[in-house]
Amino acid sequence: MPIVGSHDIRKIIFHNFNDTDVRFSNDEILGYLNQIDKYKELDDVLDFGDALLEMEKSGMLRPIAQNFNTRYYRLWNTLEQATCKACGFSTYFAPNEEGEACPQCGAKM
Ligand SMILES: [Zn+2]
Repeated sequence: MPIVGSHDIRKIIFHNFNDTDVRFSNDEILGYLNQIDKYKELDDVLDFGDALLEMEKSGMLRPIAQNFNTRYYRLWNTLEQATCKACGFSTYFAPNEEGEACPQCGAKM
């Protein structure tokens, strides 16, 4: 299965669900992923369950409910744009997340 980069998921959440009162699901994230060209062309099922689990562990996603394969989340804190000092890549982190690494070069951000 093609693995989805965490930056793509963070970007979708930042642009569509960046409010701690908003509930969103993995299915809604998948709907946005399928609008991105590099994923749209793929016939395979996209693998982003592990990426979501990492975001739970890092303190970004708050799991609130599950119904069969649909998982619902809220944000603990709104995401903020962050730019890597090493390579200049911009991504999105919650301020309470610790030890985050740049998805482009791996440097600590
Ligand atoms: Zn970087």
